[in-house]
Amino acid sequence: MKTEENMLTYQQAIDVILQAVQPLPPVETALPDALGMVLAESVEACWDLPPADNSAMDGYAFAFAGQREGDELAVAGFVPAGASFAGRLSQKEAVKIMTGAPLPPECDTVMPVEDTALEGNRIRLTRSPQKGQHVRSRGEEFGRGEPLLGPGCPVYSGEMGLLAAGGITALKVHPTPRVALLSTGDELVELGSAPGPGQIVNSNFHLLAARLQESGCRVVPLGIARDNPQDLSARIAKGLEADMLISTGGVSVGDRDYVQEILLEHGFELGFWRVGIKPGKPVLFGTARGTTVFGLPGNPAASAATFELFVRPALRRLAGHRDPLPPRLRVTLTADISGGEKRQRFLWGTLQEREGRYLFTPSPRQGSGQNRSIQGAQALLPVPGDSPEIIAGTEMEVLLLRLPPGGA
Ligand code: AMP
Ligand code: MG
Repeated sequence: MKTEENMLTYQQAIDVILQAVQPLPPVETALPDALGMVLAESVEACWDLPPADNSAMDGYAFAFAGQREGDELAVAGFVPAGASFAGRLSQKEAVKIMTGAPLPPECDTVMPVEDTALEGNRIRLTRSPQKGQHVRSRGEEFGRGEPLLGPGCPVYSGEMGLLAAGGITALKVHPTPRVALLSTGDELVELGSAPGPGQIVNSNFHLLAARLQESGCRVVPLGIARDNPQDLSARIAKGLEADMLISTGGVSVGDRDYVQEILLEHGFELGFWRVGIKPGKPVLFGTARGTTVFGLPGNPAASAATFELFVRPALRRLAGHRDPLPPRLRVTLTADISGGEKRQRFLWGTLQEREGRYLFTPSPRQGSGQNRSIQGAQALLPVPGDSPEIIAGTEMEVLLLRLPPGGA
């Protein structure tokens, strides 16, 4: 199915991207440097954890022989964490033991300090113990050689802790994509220079660079290419050394929209140009010399929307994520949404949590030239093409960009 003017639909465009983009080849990385990256292999524990039976409490360890509340045991030694008890214990003896310290071989039960009374060199049990209580057994969490995590798993803080506990010092991960960012337009000036007549600040760079950094990507800034073939060609050549090249502007049907033409001179293979959506219709996608290339429209809300809709899934795929598409969330609309638009729309908006339900409020200014709509937006609402008016209170699904404050 094609929409008006034979353009792809959003879903078809996503399919083209996910067909064309593959995870970056894995690299061996030191564990602390792998934060946010995705595992490319299965990782096995280097040893048993815990390495030995040990105490889960600060208390007294002994061999269970039916002891009950009121029974007494002689304290025959002290085992702090990191040490071990050298002597031997009789049935009437216990050792004082700290959390994490290995249990003497004849012990199988730990009485927490709180459940004992110390009288001279003896303890009295102030509760009846259960055999085996408060003991963590060797290999209880994992055994040597046991798989800890598999390929496709992102390494966040919890994974860091688990892998470190298992002795993993280095691992194979898909590297963080290097993304070259090119702005195009004769009207652009860099932030810090006063815009002259007809000029505006290159704000797209700052929005996209920030989004890329938030996603853990490395940004290669390519500056502003003027709307002439020579300048564009030189900067595009440099951009094709990165894993991904993103340009903004110059992909529409204007007289000076040269981006696609120059890309073709650099071996660009077209994935698609133009998608039946609003904003973002002129978006361009393909590959050149193994680099994934996006030409985003110049309008700020259009470049931000096409970044979320198309670039982010491609980045997640490059980085090795198995679920490249944004999560969807069921919401209730707080405002009416006008109908009568031919193309599928994506509306920026904010989320609020109310008694376990999420409310979605569309941003007031949705024009593709607007910077304001994006600020604070937490979700994009897809509205089908040719939709009638949709009234407040209707339940719909949004693409989740950020959780609302307090929602995480
Ligand atoms: P274009 O896609 O090149 O036709 O540009 C469409 C609109 O987006 C024009 O109004 C441009 O001035 C504006 N625009 C293009 N690039 C940028 C940029 N890097 N930052 C802010 N606005 C831009
Ligand atoms: Mg332009």
